[in-house]
Amino acid sequence: MSAPHLAQAPRIVLEVDVARLFAGASDAVRRGPWRPQRAGLAGLASAGGGALGFAWIAQHAVEHPDAPSPLVVSVGDAVRRGVPTAARASVASRAPLTGLFAEGLVGGGFARRLASLADALVLHSSDDPREVRGDALVVDGRGARLERFPQLVGASAKQVHAFLREHFAAHSPERSGEFDVLAIGAAGERGVRFANLAASGETPHFVGRGGLGAVLGGLGLKAVVVLAPSVPTRSDSELTRALLRSPRLAVRAEAGTFEQLPALQASGELRERGFRERIGGERVERLEASIEAAKAGAHGCHGCPTPCGWVFRTDSGERQGARFGASYALGLNLGLERFEDALALLAVCDEVGLDAKESGAALALLARARELGLEERAPHFGRRAEFERVLRAAASAPPSDPFARLFERGPAAIAAHYGLEGEHTCVKGASARPDDNLASLLGQCVSSRGGDSMRAFPFAAFDPALLAAWGAGGGFEWPAGALDPRSSAGKGLVVAWHEDWSNALDALGFCSFSAAALLTDRVLSLAELERVLAPELVACDGAGALLRLGAELTLAQRELNARWGARERDERPPWAREKLEQEGVWPQYAAVREAQRAGRWSYGPVDFATPDEDGAQERPAEERRLGRVTLRFVGALAGELGREVALETPLECRVAELLERVARLRAVASAPGTSKVSVFRAGRLLRASDPVRADDVLDLVAVLSGG
Ligand code: SF4
Repeated sequence: MSAPHLAQAPRIVLEVDVARLFAGASDAVRRGPWRPQRAGLAGLASAGGGALGFAWIAQHAVEHPDAPSPLVVSVGDAVRRGVPTAARASVASRAPLTGLFAEGLVGGGFARRLASLADALVLHSSDDPREVRGDALVVDGRGARLERFPQLVGASAKQVHAFLREHFAAHSPERSGEFDVLAIGAAGERGVRFANLAASGETPHFVGRGGLGAVLGGLGLKAVVVLAPSVPTRSDSELTRALLRSPRLAVRAEAGTFEQLPALQASGELRERGFRERIGGERVERLEASIEAAKAGAHGCHGCPTPCGWVFRTDSGERQGARFGASYALGLNLGLERFEDALALLAVCDEVGLDAKESGAALALLARARELGLEERAPHFGRRAEFERVLRAAASAPPSDPFARLFERGPAAIAAHYGLEGEHTCVKGASARPDDNLASLLGQCVSSRGGDSMRAFPFAAFDPALLAAWGAGGGFEWPAGALDPRSSAGKGLVVAWHEDWSNALDALGFCSFSAAALLTDRVLSLAELERVLAPELVACDGAGALLRLGAELTLAQRELNARWGARERDERPPWAREKLEQEGVWPQYAAVREAQRAGRWSYGPVDFATPDEDGAQERPAEERRLGRVTLRFVGALAGELGREVALETPLECRVAELLERVARLRAVASAPGTSKVSVFRAGRLLRASDPVRADDVLDLVAVLSGG
């Protein structure tokens, strides 16, 4: 593959040597154009956003192999142009938890303000890590300076935001509408290896799996304040109209990522207590009811017309933002059945500044150690107060407390300490979810910047002809079963394609959920989406430029991780090895990457005709009999049609025909088209051509994965 080459001015970088700034050096801050010396990185840097941030970190790793990696906050071109749902900043560094490259995208208003000052903010230190004493780095049109607020030591990111907003409103009233902040909690100050950071506001946006909050804390900084006008959102664009036409985004906005709960149940993948035991049935319905009852409002990224975040009311009356993945890790995973308990633990994680998913994994391992009689001080599954005590200790326990210190080192260290490595689903040092869905499993295991970036996985409903055409460009065949999540066929191809796509979207700062929904719902074609999101890139590099950028970035990230010690066999951890080593899974993924590296495969424009659904024969009408099928609905369909419907229809028929019949039952035209619905029988995804027979019980799911 070859990196994209954009005929434009070099990117503007604001670089701060924090140690020299603390020392009062006049040359500690530099703002200006930056081009990496290494040829392979120049094209990536010119693409901007996450690609620029990565290029900086990769060059630094070559030039200063023994120095700590910088923390880079960058904004993509879609953010700079005010594209709707592109309001996220890329935050990247070498993760304290894994020692590998990590990137997270953070919403809120920070990205749009930084975009008016620079393409990237690079923070590094020419000296040893220093203690956090309440210093905020203040960035504005004149450069960067430090201001100290000792009263903020130990404060939560939300408290930091409230305090600093008031401070700057009082001291710079003319800038009071131009304020945003990234901040860490006590965990980041103490170097907890899974400390996060937050773009704050009334409902903060958190980022930082892998411990990026500890990287900011290691620089001696409590917060980064940006004082600058925000890039305005283009409100009347073609894209806004497209986003508002996407049924899946409408469902996601309605259900706030919690549509994942019944969807996982329908596919038989919902688990509890260390993600070891499967659950289902009435308990899930009770949980859904308590989620609905706690809902207090919605929130989302700046300028998003279909905000997908939900805010809830906790037991104590506070407002608490929550997404499904985090509340799953801190709820069912810990044997807590009440949603209110998961919310309460999430509130503690947010207050202390801990990543919720790693916290959930660490607590589940401690509870397992307790269950096995290995640790008296560990919490029990199902006891919220005991979990809360451990989380709070990460902010307050004395350095001499060995139990608290062990927790701060993260789940892999805890598993090793108690000999529970076999029970920790961990990949390359980070916790993973043991999905039966082979594409999700492979995606988490190979991801070159942390598992979360592979979260938008719309492949189950994606156009197989298009994916097949992309694969054919690299000489890969698209086998039958490639879209069946539990079949090993074609998973390497699917995952590589998604990883490249997600890398490119994140480099632009555009929301990958939104892109997945637009494509899956066929509101925009790939070519249309690419033209809307990256017109300059496509103008310079032609059709397929976005995926080529994504692939180039993935390859370069894999190279950097290898430099930092990652081995290919680490992508097949023992707990998943048997599944991953099937021919169509990891070996195919590795073959795709090798073909790209060797220049034998490049994404280009594709021309294809949609083939018939594998030519299944329909049974003649005269041979059919009326029969009963039980349909169980998930998400918006459940709200419209009820949770369960018994349908009398001529059988046997095909799934596609059944969906046409379901469509006729429906009264609300704005809900998702039934042609986009995934149908499961006993947890197994059916194809449109699969037969439906009398007495079948089918789960109909219309959701976007991830979140
Ligand atoms: S869909 Fe959700 S994650 Fe995406 S931009 Fe909107 S609020 Fe943010």
